Amino acid sequence: MTKLRLAIVGAGPAGIYAADILLKAEKKFDVSIDLFEQLPAPYGLVRYGVAPDHPRIKGIINALREVLDSGQIRLFGNVLFGRDITLDDLKKHYNAVIFSTGSIRDAELKVPGIELAGSYGAADFVSWYDGHPDFPREWPLDASSVAVIGNGNVALDVARMLAKHADDLLPTEIPANVYEGLKNSPVTDVHVFGRRGPAQVKFSPLELRELGELRDVDMIVYDEDFDYDEASKAAIASNKQVFVIDKVLNQWRARETGSASRRLHLHFYANPLEITGTDSVESIRYERTRPDGAGGVEGTGEIREIPIQALYRAVGYFGSPLDGIPFDEKRGVIPNREGQVLDDDDQQVHGVYATGWIKRGPVGLIGHTKSDAMETVKHVINDQANWWAPAEPSEEAVTELLASRGVEFTNLDGWHNLDAYEQALGAPTGRVRIKVVERDEMVRASNNS
Ligand SMILES: Cc1cc2nc3c(=O)[nH]c(=O)nc-3n(C[C@H](O)[C@H](O)[C@H](O)COP(=O)(O)OP(=O)(O)OC[C@H]3O[C@@H](n4cnc5c(N)ncnc54)[C@H](O)[C@@H]3O)c2cc1C
Repeated sequence: MTKLRLAIVGAGPAGIYAADILLKAEKKFDVSIDLFEQLPAPYGLVRYGVAPDHPRIKGIINALREVLDSGQIRLFGNVLFGRDITLDDLKKHYNAVIFSTGSIRDAELKVPGIELAGSYGAADFVSWYDGHPDFPREWPLDASSVAVIGNGNVALDVARMLAKHADDLLPTEIPANVYEGLKNSPVTDVHVFGRRGPAQVKFSPLELRELGELRDVDMIVYDEDFDYDEASKAAIASNKQVFVIDKVLNQWRARETGSASRRLHLHFYANPLEITGTDSVESIRYERTRPDGAGGVEGTGEIREIPIQALYRAVGYFGSPLDGIPFDEKRGVIPNREGQVLDDDDQQVHGVYATGWIKRGPVGLIGHTKSDAMETVKHVINDQANWWAPAEPSEEAVTELLASRGVEFTNLDGWHNLDAYEQALGAPTGRVRIKVVERDEMVRASNNS
C-alpha cells in the first residue's frame, strides 16, 4: 500500500487538527505524520496567546493532547523551519508538507507617534504575559494611565490583564516573572479606544462581560456613545451577540462607580489621530466620530486628548514569511486556494499546503482552524498524483538528519515530562501549574537532562 509521509510545520491547533483529520479520513493509503514545532512545547497560541485567566479555553489543550497521544504522530519540538530543517530537506524525506505556522507579530498601525517609547504591540505583551520563551522577561509596567487601541477580543485581553490585580491571577499558570511585573504596576486607568460604536465592536459578549467582574475595577462607559443611529438599532434588534453586548454595556451605565482603585474606560466613536510625546508617550489625541449612515463612521472635527504614559495597539496579528515558500506581504499569509499553496502566477505549488491563520489570516477562534484543516486535508488526499517522490522516506532518516545537525529536539514524551514538571512547580502553592519560560529549562525538563 502507498504511504503518505507528511510533514506538518507548526504544532498549533491548525496543525494538530490537520493531523487528526487526515488520520481519521477515508483514504486508500497509509499515513505517517511528523509535526515540526519551533518551540519546545506544542499548542501554539492556545498556550502562548489565550489569556492565562481563561482556563476553559486553555483546556482545549487537553483535546489537542489526546490527538498527539494517539500514537500516530511524531512531534519534533524545538525545530525551526528555515534554520533546522529546510524545504529541500522536506522534499527529500516527505511526500508533502502542510504549513500551519500561524501569526505572532503585531499588524502595523499608521498613527504619528506610534514609534515613541512606551508604545507597544499587543502581540508582544501577550507573548510576555503568556511566557513565550523568545520574548524579554521584563516588561515596563510603569504607567498609571494606559491606552489600548482596538475593539476586538485581543484588546479586551490586554486591557483586562493590565487592569486586573496581579493577586487575582495567582490561581492561573502565569510565570513568576509575570506575576512580579504585574504586581508592581502603578496603573489606575486603562482607556480602550474604538473608531466605531458599541453595536459595531468585534468583542465576544462573554469576554466583555468578564471585564465587569474584575475586583476593584470600575467599568466606565460614556452616555454620549449610546445615542444609536438606525443601523445600530437594527444590529441590536437582529443580532444576538450585539444585543447582549448592548445589554452588558447598558448595565454598566447604570452602575455606581467611584470606589474602585482602578478604572477601565471604553471610548467608542474615538479615532486615534496622534500619539504625542517628546521622548516617550505622553498623550493620545483622537477625533470624535459619528455614524456615516452607510455602516461606517466619519470624523466630527472634535479633537480630544487624554494623558497616557503607555499605549498598546491591538489592531490584529500578522504572519511571517517562510524560507522558499510564497508569501503575500500585504495580507501576511501564504497565498493559497483552499489550502493548496499558489506561486506568483497563481499556479499550484505541488506538495505544499497551508492551514490555520497562515492560510486564512489572523481571524477566528480555535474551532475555526478545524474546518480550515478539513478543507486543506481534502486536497492533500486528492492530490496524490502530484505528491513529491522523496529520496529518503524512512522515519529514521529525519531523526538522523536533525541529530547530525546538533538540533536539540524534543518529542512527545518530552512534552509529557515538561507538562509534569510545570505541574510539580505549581503543586506546593496549590496552583495547577507554573509555566516555564526559559527555552533551555524547557528543553532540559523535556529531555530530563
Ligand atoms: C491574544 C489571543 C487570544 C486568543 N484567545 C482565544 C480564545 O480565548 N478562544 C479562541 O477560540 N481563540 C482565541 N484566539 C485565537 C486562536 O489562538 C487562533 O485561532 C489559533 O491559535 C490559530 O491557530 P494556528 O494553528 O493557525 O496558529 P498558532 O496557534 O499560532 O500556531 C502556529 C504554530 O506554528 C509554530 N511555528 C511558527 N513558525 C514556525 C517555524 N518557522 N518552524 C516551526 N514552527 C513554527 C508556532 O510556534 C506555533 O506553535 C486567540 C488569539 C490571540 C492572538
